[in-house]
Amino acid sequence: MIGVCYGAVADGLDATIVKVEADVGRGLPQFSIVGLPDSAVTESRLRIRSAIQNAGLEFPRGRITVNLSPASVRKHGAGLDLAIAIAILRSTGWVPNVIDRVVGFCAELSLSGDLVQVPGILNLALAFQKHHIVQAVVAIPQQSDLIPLPNFTWVPFHSLGKVAEFLRDPATTIPEVVVQGIEPAFLELEDEGDFSEVAGMEQVKRALTIAAAGRHHILLIGPPGCGKTMISERFPSIMPRLSSMEALEVYAIHQASGIARQPSLTPPFRMPHHTLTTAGLIGGGAPVTAGEVTLAHRGVLVLDELLEFQRTTLDALREPLVSKQLRMTRGGRSAILPADFILVGTLNPCPCGQRGFADCRCTDSIVTRYWSRLSGPFLDRVDLVVHVHPNRTRQNASERGESSASRVIRRRVEAARLALANPDSASPLGHEMERRPLVMNRAARELLQRAGTGLQLSRRAMLSITRVAQTIGALDEQEEIRSEQIEEALALRSHIQLS
Ligand SMILES: [Zn+2]
Repeated sequence: MIGVCYGAVADGLDATIVKVEADVGRGLPQFSIVGLPDSAVTESRLRIRSAIQNAGLEFPRGRITVNLSPASVRKHGAGLDLAIAIAILRSTGWVPNVIDRVVGFCAELSLSGDLVQVPGILNLALAFQKHHIVQAVVAIPQQSDLIPLPNFTWVPFHSLGKVAEFLRDPATTIPEVVVQGIEPAFLELEDEGDFSEVAGMEQVKRALTIAAAGRHHILLIGPPGCGKTMISERFPSIMPRLSSMEALEVYAIHQASGIARQPSLTPPFRMPHHTLTTAGLIGGGAPVTAGEVTLAHRGVLVLDELLEFQRTTLDALREPLVSKQLRMTRGGRSAILPADFILVGTLNPCPCGQRGFADCRCTDSIVTRYWSRLSGPFLDRVDLVVHVHPNRTRQNASERGESSASRVIRRRVEAARLALANPDSASPLGHEMERRPLVMNRAARELLQRAGTGLQLSRRAMLSITRVAQTIGALDEQEEIRSEQIEEALALRSHIQLS
């Protein structure tokens, strides 16, 4: 008899459902696993034999062949132990051999027959869900990783013996714990700082508000110690909270990458050091690991002292800055990594850090060389470039007179996002917010054209200015774009004078 059950293996940030078939035939005792297992899966034979025996169950004599399909996917790790053991027990009739597509099995086995947790369990469960598998048997120690998922039940057990009992007699064996829910429950973390802790800097706060509302990438240029890093660190506090499905997606990415992050509605924040390699930034390898851009998905990527990063590393950012994802090919298969983040870069205006702010000691050629490390195509992808003036902040604060508590700003950002979103398009998860059609009055249109000719702006730059103006309009609760919004959008591109 052939015993069948379903397991899942992690494959980078993806997961693959594996159908496990076990056949016990006559012949000399032998136990082989076919279907592209890696060494950890092959070694699992010894663990599975001990676990079955130590659970007080009978390990079949004879020739055991286990087949893992699809055969084209390499099976990594020990997470298939439990599924293989169950398939074997089903083949001998120890547990009923129902080919049910309802329960998946995900746990490693210890020699004693205890269930051991596996990494990236949430991604495995999401893959189960896609295949209409609505229950997963997992290890009890995994419990803290289990997020309630819609129409899905986690059934954690201590040991293989208990799982076998449950499958033999589900009516009388009650699982020790069951985790199920209608919607994943996530918390809001409040340890992200607040804009009100930063005195002044109203112009920068305004620019970051625009960046958050319109999902614009932004560079902050200022002398050392002007507070550009401090304000960047507080940027997530003004961003809208994630929806529970977005939070789930983010949590699954972080869990699969082995990064401890509490299940949270707060957008992720990543601030890697400038010694980061290109691979560390964009990810890669086989199996694929997430880089910083993917860990920052749905959140913020801060590159502090941007020009300290390798130019090749910065150039690798170009693709995700525009397409909000990364396409990778490995082993003949392509993978797409999500990378929908807002970039905040901070940098000094010149090597001494004072040009445009105080007395600069750098020669023009040194400054030109310094800026040449940022390529034109990279700058093209950044909509907002703002000077952080340490001295002028007080004056601007009183001019604008806005409340600068993050909570208050976030509400305005949320309202602006709503105003910007196209009501006619269902924007599914993973796609960029589709914008409402643009309405611009005549004066604004003429001003934009004059600026375009005068400043010799590229098409991309013109489009960027228009989009920023539209975001400003949404924040200012304007139905149409007027000259004021074009003027402000133009002023927020101060790199035109620098580069
Ligand atoms: Zn200088």
